[in-house]
Amino acid sequence: MGEKGIRIEHLSKRFGEGDTAVLALKDVNMRVLPGEVVGLVGPSGSGKSTLLKCLGAVIDPTSGRMALDGETIYDNGWKVRDLRALRRDKIGFVFQAPYLIPFLDATDNVALPPMLAGVPTGEARRRALELLTALDVQHRARAMPAQLSGGEQQRIAIARGLVNRPPVILADEPTAPLDSQRAMAVIRILNDMAKRFETAIIVVTHDEKIIPTFRRIYHIRDGATHEEAGEGRGFD
Ligand code: ADP
Ligand code: MG
Repeated sequence: MGEKGIRIEHLSKRFGEGDTAVLALKDVNMRVLPGEVVGLVGPSGSGKSTLLKCLGAVIDPTSGRMALDGETIYDNGWKVRDLRALRRDKIGFVFQAPYLIPFLDATDNVALPPMLAGVPTGEARRRALELLTALDVQHRARAMPAQLSGGEQQRIAIARGLVNRPPVILADEPTAPLDSQRAMAVIRILNDMAKRFETAIIVVTHDEKIIPTFRRIYHIRDGATHEEAGEGRGFD
């Protein structure tokens, strides 16, 4: 499991015990290389969010293996002592709901992760503004979350997930609240990030607008994955 990027082998996750147990993941196998953006597609309840939460060390898997950025993090048990540090240093999360901090403006919501990592405030804000500009929300830089539209909030949340340039980005339905043009802008930025910073990216989606952009897609059904070639349209 020495290669960089993301590798998942025979991952399973059971919620609960006995008669009421739910086997949310049965046999998940995935590989995402550095610089690659891979789609994860499947019906509601198929285990997509559960998989991202396991990979993001937010919940415990039941069995299997996972490696991130060249390090085995789980092998029938966590292999990393400090899961909080793993999340902070290795993984950028982009959730379905934006979860912005209500008392910080747009810029400082994005500048917070680098500031927590010890980057001086001025530099952190500069990086935040660069991403807000790339996501076309720079005109809302001083606005508070409550003043922003749903689409604007989502773009701020995406900038926050990218700002520390983590080796791995996990995005759960990142384009759901966005119109088609903005959804494509987000996908373009994720592809650009992947290429520039050798990031391995998983995008959970059932958004028909963006599915044709992936070169590789994993389908998940009843907790098991299979791989398919995508159309890979528009990003060469
Ligand atoms: P998706 O994101 O693909 O819609 P989820 O990963 O959220 O699916 O859920 C997969 C399955 O696991 C579903 O049957 C769901 O009800 C179940 N599940 C998810 N989270 C929990 C939990 N905390 N406790 C019990 N069952 C859960
Ligand atoms: Mg989900």
